[in-house]
Amino acid sequence: MAKAKATTKKRSAPMKPCPACGKMVHARKTACDCGHTFVKKENGTPSASAKKKAASGGKHDAAEMVSVVKKLVETFGTLDHSITALQNAQKASQLVSPIGGVDDALSLLQSLRDATAS
Ligand SMILES: [Zn+2]
Repeated sequence: MAKAKATTKKRSAPMKPCPACGKMVHARKTACDCGHTFVKKENGTPSASAKKKAASGGKHDAAEMVSVVKKLVETFGTLDHSITALQNAQKASQLVSPIGGVDDALSLLQSLRDATAS
């Protein structure tokens, strides 16, 4: 199917904002001109900790869970607030998944905010 839209380029390249400098970089590039290296999320080599987690069947350390819950309550005030924050985060991550996830959406929104702030 041919598109009627006339453009100077063959097709618009997928771009992603660099979290370090905010410049738009070609999505396939692994590093920005400023020196920032993009971490590949999919098909990446699993790290040692990821392997360890998989080997343990996805079980989490009890002490680690307690410290995370503590941090959540410290950050959000109460368990109720922490639950709301996590539910919002879950909702947000579902909303931003088409553009690559929370990190990408965050840098996109930050660059938009910087562009509109004057
Ligand atoms: Zn950069």
